[in-house]
Amino acid sequence: MRSEQNQEVTVIAVTKQVSTERALEAIEAGLIHLGENRPEGLLAKKGELNNQAKWHYIGSLQSRKVKQVINDIDYLHSLDRFSLAEEIDKRAQKPINCFVQANVSGEESKHGLAKEEVIPFIESLQQLENIRVVGLMTMAPNTEDETIIRNVFRELKNLQQEVVQLNLPFAPCQELSMGMSNDYEIAVEEGATFVRIGTALVG
Ligand SMILES: *Cc1c(COP(=O)(O)O)cnc(C)c1O
Repeated sequence: MRSEQNQEVTVIAVTKQVSTERALEAIEAGLIHLGENRPEGLLAKKGELNNQAKWHYIGSLQSRKVKQVINDIDYLHSLDRFSLAEEIDKRAQKPINCFVQANVSGEESKHGLAKEEVIPFIESLQQLENIRVVGLMTMAPNTEDETIIRNVFRELKNLQQEVVQLNLPFAPCQELSMGMSNDYEIAVEEGATFVRIGTALVG
């Protein structure tokens, strides 16, 4: 998929609510990026699918579960605290591609760092050799108001540009993980490079 901003967009088929057979259909249709939000679900599907896919961990990750899953994923979309980064650094056998999750909308129900915390947080990761910040991730608020959704995505893009300007070798931050079934079109218009789509695709 390509957008008007002409960025390359990768579709992540979120398979957390479907069977391995359904996930295999997605792979056969050419969607090789799959997303899961529980270590158990990811490991079960990965085992059955013999590594034909790229695996994205999209849910919040408890520190005590890091060791179960961290060396089986290609991307983590939910890095949101230093203690989690430290645990990943300790358990990972190679640098892990991480998205820092930001709570741009400020909704209490959402995980992620407040906007103003994102840059200090990324700077604090410098000593952790196994953390590579490939981008930022957010979830849009639950609203029908497209203007609000669009502004959230736009703010994440602005924040990403600020991180890029820092020129940190461990945080190239070229990617934007934003957009789900209900709002991926807006996200792509606002510069998403990864969209995470469940129900609209496989659900
Ligand atoms: C479930 C989930 C998705 C996919 O949601 P849909 O609305 O089914 O497209 C995307 N991102 C995260 C973090 C999720 O937990």
